[in-house]
Amino acid sequence: MANFRTHLGVAAAGGSVLAHGGWQAGLWSAMESLPLLALMAFGGILPDIDADRSRAIRLIFNLLAVPAVVAGVLVLQTRLATGALLMTCGAIYVGVRYLAGALFSRFTVHRGLWHSLLAAALCGLVATALSHQLFGQSDYLAWAHGASLMLGFVVHLLLDELYSVDLTGARLKRSFGTAMKPFDWREPGNSLVMLMAAASLLPWLPPFGTLRELLRQGASLWR
Ligand SMILES: [Zn+2]
Repeated sequence: MANFRTHLGVAAAGGSVLAHGGWQAGLWSAMESLPLLALMAFGGILPDIDADRSRAIRLIFNLLAVPAVVAGVLVLQTRLATGALLMTCGAIYVGVRYLAGALFSRFTVHRGLWHSLLAAALCGLVATALSHQLFGQSDYLAWAHGASLMLGFVVHLLLDELYSVDLTGARLKRSFGTAMKPFDWREPGNSLVMLMAAASLLPWLPPFGTLRELLRQGASLWR
């Protein structure tokens, strides 16, 4: 399986091409291209959220803690006094950084459900909904944020599969087929929960017509 540096490097390189290409084509501004690059790079390490004690999991929860605190400030600033707000944000940071990470490694299996296209879609939709509802981004940019994250996620799954092909002997390792899958048939219950979580996001998403437009423009960049 591909290691942390390979995942981060390939996804960041892909993200630069995507962010730069869209900027050159006039789809977004130079400033707007930076979060897209960051999201694709983040998507490239996100599936290893299920690998206990990995470098990826520590980095992921460090990174997730930052938007969680920003979201906390946005939601609570009008309701709490400054002192209480600071304490709450400290608690949110510690909660996401340490507790969520510990819970996650307790309840997930490496290369289980989180290495699937369903998880990629769910993470993309969560990013889109958060970007649109919480950070007030336009329909178009919100979809672009979600798509970048999902693209990085899929690149990770592809890399994991590539590395499970033994290139010297052209044999397949046992891990072949465990990364790139639509969902995890060994965890049907959890797969269903994940599908329902994705469906529950529908009311929070921007119109799908904008996503079609984004994909059409993105596809035309390759021609
Ligand atoms: Zn992986």
